[in-house]
Amino acid sequence: MRTRATDERLSQMAARLRLVYMRDHLTEMLEAASGAKMTPRETLEYVLSKEVDQRESNRIKLSTMAAHFPRACTLESFDFSAQPSLDPGVIRELAKMEWVDSGENVLFLGPPGVGKTHLAIALGRRAVQKGQNVLFISASHLMAGLQKANKEGTLNEKLSSLYKPKLLIIDEVGYLPFSAQTSNLFFQLVSRRYEHKSILITCNRSLNDWGMIFGDPTVAAAILDRLLHHCTPVTIVGDSYRIREAQKLKLLGDHNA
Ligand code: ADP
Ligand code: MG
Repeated sequence: MRTRATDERLSQMAARLRLVYMRDHLTEMLEAASGAKMTPRETLEYVLSKEVDQRESNRIKLSTMAAHFPRACTLESFDFSAQPSLDPGVIRELAKMEWVDSGENVLFLGPPGVGKTHLAIALGRRAVQKGQNVLFISASHLMAGLQKANKEGTLNEKLSSLYKPKLLIIDEVGYLPFSAQTSNLFFQLVSRRYEHKSILITCNRSLNDWGMIFGDPTVAAAILDRLLHHCTPVTIVGDSYRIREAQKLKLLGDHNA
């Protein structure tokens, strides 16, 4: 009876201190600790580490939602043997996420289906795990947002909000060409983040085509100049993983193999 009253008081104190896991699991943790014959020090360590673990997993959950990843890809699920043009060492180095700490950029270049978006999401999730906030956005969505803000006179606010994430992942640059005016807005975004906050871009065209993508070759050159200054460009060549998987399953018939 006394124990229950004490647990009640401990729970209330945990609530006041916003130790949510302790508030909800106090009795069961104390019972587990006494069952395992933990010393007072071990018990305290056990209880606090549970709280820390819980907070960390909540933080990751919230940041992952805020990042707007379109799907859940991981580096562990990337099959490097299927992509011989890609040096796994480069991706392992990028997975340390030091480039995000120092505001450097990454470009994934290559044809459709070779795993650019997969790797971008996987690295983005790694960044979230390391405590860096991330925003994933498609290039067309980003450009539409910039254009709209420009039209409504809120470009500065838009650029400020796009400056916030430590890593901005812009997916699918190159699928649609941008007007000279939109390219100029994109240049302002790249300039603002330059040397402070990282950008990861996936693009299905080679850098030589950027003049075409960005309408105006001078603006394209200025964008590339800033993006490439502190940058790891990764070119992936080869066949689409999807098509190869489909061929393996014989969905496309032998004449396509
Ligand atoms: P891209 O962005 O280059 O067009 P994606 O990253 O969208 O290609 O890849 C297409 C599909 O194939 C995705 O479902 C992705 O998870 C998968 N994929 C591509 N490459 C690999 C790989 N090497 N290992 C495992 N899955 C892969
Ligand atoms: Mg893609």
